[in-house]
This record gives sequence, C-alpha cells and structure tokens, in this order.
Amino acid sequence: MKQTTSFTCTVCGAAYRKWAGKCDACGGWNTIVEEAPLSTGPKSLGAKGRPIPLSDLATEEAPPPRASSGIAELDRVLGGGLVPASAILVGGDPGIGKSTLLLQAAASFARKGLKCLYISGEEASAQVRMRAQRLGLTDAPVGLGAETNLRDILTTLDAERPALAIIDSIQTMWLDSVEAAPGSVSQVRAAAHELVSFAKRRGVAVILVGHVTKEGQIAGPRVVEHMVDTVLYFEGERGHQFRILRAVKNRFGPADEIGVFEMTGGGLAEVPNPSALFLANRDQPAPGSAVFSGIEGTRPVLTEIQALVAPSTLASPRRTVVGLDSGRVSTILAVLEARCGIPFAGLDVFLNVAGGLRVNEPAADLAVAGALLSAREDVAIPPDMVLFGEISLSGALRPVGQTENRLKEASKLGFSQATVPSRSKIEGASGLTVRQMPDLTAFVGEMFGAG
Ligand SMILES: [Zn+2]
Repeated sequence: MKQTTSFTCTVCGAAYRKWAGKCDACGGWNTIVEEAPLSTGPKSLGAKGRPIPLSDLATEEAPPPRASSGIAELDRVLGGGLVPASAILVGGDPGIGKSTLLLQAAASFARKGLKCLYISGEEASAQVRMRAQRLGLTDAPVGLGAETNLRDILTTLDAERPALAIIDSIQTMWLDSVEAAPGSVSQVRAAAHELVSFAKRRGVAVILVGHVTKEGQIAGPRVVEHMVDTVLYFEGERGHQFRILRAVKNRFGPADEIGVFEMTGGGLAEVPNPSALFLANRDQPAPGSAVFSGIEGTRPVLTEIQALVAPSTLASPRRTVVGLDSGRVSTILAVLEARCGIPFAGLDVFLNVAGGLRVNEPAADLAVAGALLSAREDVAIPPDMVLFGEISLSGALRPVGQTENRLKEASKLGFSQATVPSRSKIEGASGLTVRQMPDLTAFVGEMFGAG
C-alpha cells in the first residue's frame, strides 16, 4: 500500500487529502497542517481471527464505584465522583485556571486516601510546589513529577500504580515512536491513545489537560475528544471571577452538567448556589433586564439577561452578543419585526448574560425577547418576575421542559411571578403567580402595551 500523507485541522481534527487555507469543518484559517499517517491498518485480512465471547444484556454487576473528591461541584460534573480506569479530558483556554483546579482536585482526592500523581510537562516541579503553597495544599500526599517523555511517564505510572494520574498538559507529551513535534496532531493523538489504553489496562483513572488553541501548529483538545470517556471544559472570562466546569460528554453521567467556581486568592472556591451568585450583583430594576430561569444539566440556574438598544449611526447596525447564540438572537429580532411589527433596523443591539455564563437553551428565547423589548420601549420588567419559553418562527410560544423545577428555583430565590408559554405543564402550587402566553404578540401587548 502506498503511504499517503494526510492533512489535519489542528483545532477540530477534520482530515483532508489536500492542504487548504480554511477548514470547512470549523471555519478556522491556517489551521490545517500536514501529518504523517498514524497507522496504515492491518497488513492483510486473509488470516481468520478468533471468535469473541458474547453475552446477553442482563447484568449482575454493580455500577462502578466512584471516588468522591469532596469538591461537590467537581464530583457533580464527573457524574457523582471519579470512576476508576476512566479517561477524562479537561479543556480550556490557557491561563483560565485548569492547573489550579486540578492541583486542588489532586490534593482533595489524596486527602481522601486516593493515590494521586500530578505530572507537569508545562512547569518545573518548583513552580507547581509554589502554586501548592499559595493554595495551602502542601500537606496533601500528591506525588509530583515534571516530565514530557511519555515512555518514562508510563514506566513510572506502571511502577507506582496510582488511582489517579493527572497529565498537564497533553500537548507537551511526546512519544519517541512518533516522528512529529510535541503538540502536533499525531503526537497529541498518539500520547492520548497510549494514556487512555494504559488507564483501561491498569485500572488507573487519568485526567488529561488540553489547552484550547485558536490556530497554528498546536493541536487542540478536540482532536482527542473521541478517545476519552468524559470531556469537561473549563470556561469563564478572565476579567470575571466565575469559572464554569461543563461536561460536554460523559459516559458515566449526564452531559451538560455544570459546576460553578469562584476564583479567589486561595484558589477556586465552589459555588453551591449559582443562581444566588449570578443574581447577587443585580442592579436596581432597569429597562433592558430580564431574569431567565434556565436548566443547566440537572439543576435550575437563574441568570439575568441584559440588553441595550440605541440608535445607530452605522449602515448595518451593531449586533453584539455575549453568552448567547448570536444566530438565535437574530432569529428573535426577525420574529419581533415580522410577527409583532417591532423593527430593530437602525438600532444597535447589545446583549449579555450577566456573570459570564453561556446560555445555550432555546428556553431563553422569551427572556431575550423580554430584555430586548424592555430596552427598546424603555419599560422595566417587574424585578420579581422570571421568564422562559421557546419562540417559534410563527411567533408562537412553545412550552419547555422542567417547568416545575424552573418555577421552584425562582420561588426559592424570592421571585413572585413568572411569564411562561401557554400549555406549560404546571402541577402543584409553586408559590408564584404564573401568566401563560400563547404567542409573542400577546406577550408584547401584556407587558409593553400595544408595542
Ligand atoms: Zn477545523
């Protein structure tokens, strides 16, 4: 078989036969690099394999035992604790606090009696020790190593047999059997493959740290997402003190679960009640603010959606959206114009989720529309009201899941009224005055007069 070189996008891992300036899969520019092929596959399929034993679906096996770190927000995102022999990828922008979080996690697991190794390929041991000192973790029995040669690391892991090994970061690791620079797609994939198969073979849980890269020669964490059991992303704005650990894939628990942390002088502190935190710094009731009762993973989280609408001097007015899907926002603006006759042409629109959370639920539509209308009409939404509901292209409001949970959380935080779509499933008293609206036109009439 002729060896063919292939081209791979370093950001999303898409494969190409030819080099191209732009990746069609993720839209990145200059992200495609030439890679030596990983494997040419089996030499021949002529020889017969042996039959594999099959079993039925019934099981007597207990669910996997989980180790709790004692950091409740981390355990929650892991699906209830660390599963032995699992491979976990923790991705995030450089400098967002991944190493801090994982050093704290290693110390917590170690204090609970788990044997933990922390292998840093980014920093010298002295630097990691200094961080540990700053975080008050020096008493925790964590084994610390500074190495990038994967062969040496695997030999050490094999001898030490820890319960958990943290590799910081996967982009610094290299295998001498792969002819490519550390950080290249083939090195990162090969190193992740070795570590994941080691985890399965020896019953060691491994956590791989991966830096999100925007472009260039360094492969991002997405190229190894498919190899691991659990993919977590650590998000947050550098200027904000909040950090969100979000599960985007989890073989051992619900995906979309989030853990909320606050960056403090002593490291990351968990935030057990995110709603209270996201609403804590709420200003006086002002036009342009709407409180959305959302669901993140398995729990309700209340957030404030803020809008500013101002006359524009630009030919195509600004649409600046932070924390929400901008395509979704354009759709809502179009529906407001087409179905309710409220144009936003000639107006700059700024939308923002307070606190730095990213809201991906369509259920946020009604709160977004509420914030936009409130800003445009200069009429404040009552400060004790929450909103949620999906807006369809016809302008109708569609009920969303977990209405009960959303209302309960709002009631717990002192809200007394809610505006929701008609036909929402409401059983039992939530303690809130609930207004049900069939469509956007009715909502505009009720809240802002004739519009
Ligand atoms: Zn790509």
